[in-house]
Amino acid sequence: MIEKLSVVKFGGSSVKNHFWSALKLVEYLLDGGRLVVVVSALRGVTEKLLRLSEWPDWDVYESIVLEHSIIADRLGAEIDPLLRELEAAVARRRYDPVWRDYILSFGERLSAVLLAQALKNEGIPAVSVDAWSVLMLKGNFGSAEVDFERSLPHAVKLREAARDTVPVVTGFIGNLNGRVATLGRGGSDYTASALGRLLDARAVLIMSDVRGIYTADPRLVPGARLFHFISRERALLAAKLGMKALHPRTLEPIDGIPLILGKTEDWRLGTLVSDFGDEWPIVTYRTEGEMAHIFVVGVEEVPGWHGKRGSGYFSITVEREELAPVLREIHGVVFDESSGSRHYSELWARV
Ligand code: ASP
Ligand code: MG
Repeated sequence: MIEKLSVVKFGGSSVKNHFWSALKLVEYLLDGGRLVVVVSALRGVTEKLLRLSEWPDWDVYESIVLEHSIIADRLGAEIDPLLRELEAAVARRRYDPVWRDYILSFGERLSAVLLAQALKNEGIPAVSVDAWSVLMLKGNFGSAEVDFERSLPHAVKLREAARDTVPVVTGFIGNLNGRVATLGRGGSDYTASALGRLLDARAVLIMSDVRGIYTADPRLVPGARLFHFISRERALLAAKLGMKALHPRTLEPIDGIPLILGKTEDWRLGTLVSDFGDEWPIVTYRTEGEMAHIFVVGVEEVPGWHGKRGSGYFSITVEREELAPVLREIHGVVFDESSGSRHYSELWARV
């Protein structure tokens, strides 16, 4: 029997602020089978690297050195070779897309070394793995895509390695014709789901500092509700219409594999994305200059509001500065917060 494995991805704030919770989750998951970990850069580091790719600001470089060294010293991790390589790379100043992706790759390469060392310190036999040796890419620098066929033989080796170690794989990057390339901003989630498919994982877990998918952005709409179950279709449509909790590409590779979104700090509750789910609407938005487009996924109209009916959603355009109050108001109407009645339940059942 082939023992199935899971893929768990930790976001940039997990590695920076919630190391301990991440370690506990890894221990818990290892109890139930094998595991491949995917990791993002520490929070804010990709931004700093982007600045370095525009101008070699050595203060920015020093701040990257400092924030990683503090963690590395505490853990006893060896990151000096990577830091020296980054310094040499920045000094080369090429300002082209190949060079930019190379500079950006250091965030994930550093955090993978840190997380692997942290796991080793807990007695877990972890190794950091550069996705350059696993994920073969196609397309363009800055927004490459996974070439599944060409990646498969390398994934088979990763699966072998996961028999007696926990590979900690760099998110966001891979191998484009021998060069390191990135998958686009936020691409680590896509790394996790692509590996999920290549490894035929039983589940892909995406751990971050938000609990999961809500009926609206909870930072703007305090009354937003957390989905415990959501269908892939509804999540994908919401992601395409601006929902930030999930990059739309993440869902592409994993037809049939359950995706779980959760909060690293408190991982017992989250959102399961699979074949079925709650039929609640989702209020998303996208800004465009001075305007904001609000989309209500899963309804055909919003009483009292003019807008346009799309396929599977209703959209309303407002001025950008009104966005937050209007989002709250629309969320309130859709969920009928004032009366508490389930006015919309019939409609939800239809869509
Ligand atoms: N570190 C990369 C970014 O900030 C990838 C990711 O976080 O998913 O875009
Ligand atoms: Mg990031």
